[in-house]
Amino acid sequence: MTKRDYYEILEVSKSASADEIKKAYRKMALKYHPDKNPGDKTAEEKFKEAAEAYEVLSDDNKKARYDQYGHAGVNGGGFGGGGFGGGMNMEDIFSQFGDIFGGHFGGGGFAGGGQRQQARGSNLRVRIRLNLEEMVNGTQKTIKVKKMKMAPGATSKTCTTCNGAGVQMKVMNTMFGQMQTQTTCGTCQGIGKIADKIPAGANAQGLIKEDEEVTINIPAGAREGIQLNVRGKGNDAPFGGNPGDLLVVVEEEADGSIKREGDNLHQELYISFAEAALGTQKEIPTVGGKVKIKVDAGTQSGKILRLSGKGLPSIDSYGKGDMFVHINVWTPQHLSPEQRAFFEKQIENGEMMAEPSGKEKTFFDKVRDLFN
Ligand SMILES: [Zn+2]
Repeated sequence: MTKRDYYEILEVSKSASADEIKKAYRKMALKYHPDKNPGDKTAEEKFKEAAEAYEVLSDDNKKARYDQYGHAGVNGGGFGGGGFGGGMNMEDIFSQFGDIFGGHFGGGGFAGGGQRQQARGSNLRVRIRLNLEEMVNGTQKTIKVKKMKMAPGATSKTCTTCNGAGVQMKVMNTMFGQMQTQTTCGTCQGIGKIADKIPAGANAQGLIKEDEEVTINIPAGAREGIQLNVRGKGNDAPFGGNPGDLLVVVEEEADGSIKREGDNLHQELYISFAEAALGTQKEIPTVGGKVKIKVDAGTQSGKILRLSGKGLPSIDSYGKGDMFVHINVWTPQHLSPEQRAFFEKQIENGEMMAEPSGKEKTFFDKVRDLFN
């Protein structure tokens, strides 16, 4: 299924302000609200779709990534675990955005959702280092994360402060008279339950730190700084509730030989003085595997060879970047007596002297060529 553009879903322009986006979402959410469209699956899908679009466009960080990379930038290509690619579930929508349309529906919410904010475990953030090839082709990685899990044997009882409601009513005297406000219960942090028995090693909420292996699907075309959201793989919530998410930040492995610049790749190639003089063939690594290149006889140090299409696939358009190979001629540093004699003779006879014709490309010419 092709995902629709988030701006299109909310019927706003790409330059819409945060306020316009919020208003547009509110309009969609009210139109397709399940209370207004009971049993209508299409409306429910549209309701979810709008929530997903709003989740991204209302978050500056996610919006910026979406604007730059499209869906690949924000939902990690569809995780198996029913992550973001599969859309948000109703409970998430009401707990996250309930305030936007809650007032319209008598607080009844939808199937009990939105009544009370359900306690969620906290999100975990990890970094994952990928080399260029893994970023280009996509990969699957199994990593070990340290997360808070419910300790075996931990038991809970109903919170005595709020009697399990998770909220406390407070009466405040204001200049308009007495006002009743509802706040999250300070004893149980809104969970409605508190610890009863806590096994050794667990914290006051019955949670214990444990290693867990998580397999992460990295979508093709991932880039440095992209954050993948693996839903439900973060810390457990104490005594029930949904676990938080695992946020995976992609980091580019500083691969010694290849450097990236946008979609283009650069690498240095060192050849000997003799190879430069006589010409040679060299094998160089590219993203798709090793490639043979020909270095012409008489190649000067600093020459840049361009391998068209051997760069990274472009994320927001078709086509690929290029690979630039920067040739460095290595001047010998240790000469045998014979070699020394040979070179001394060349200088004596005025052979092998630098003879620029004036048509050689300067460093600045080469830089300019790269952009043409
Ligand atoms: Zn409580």
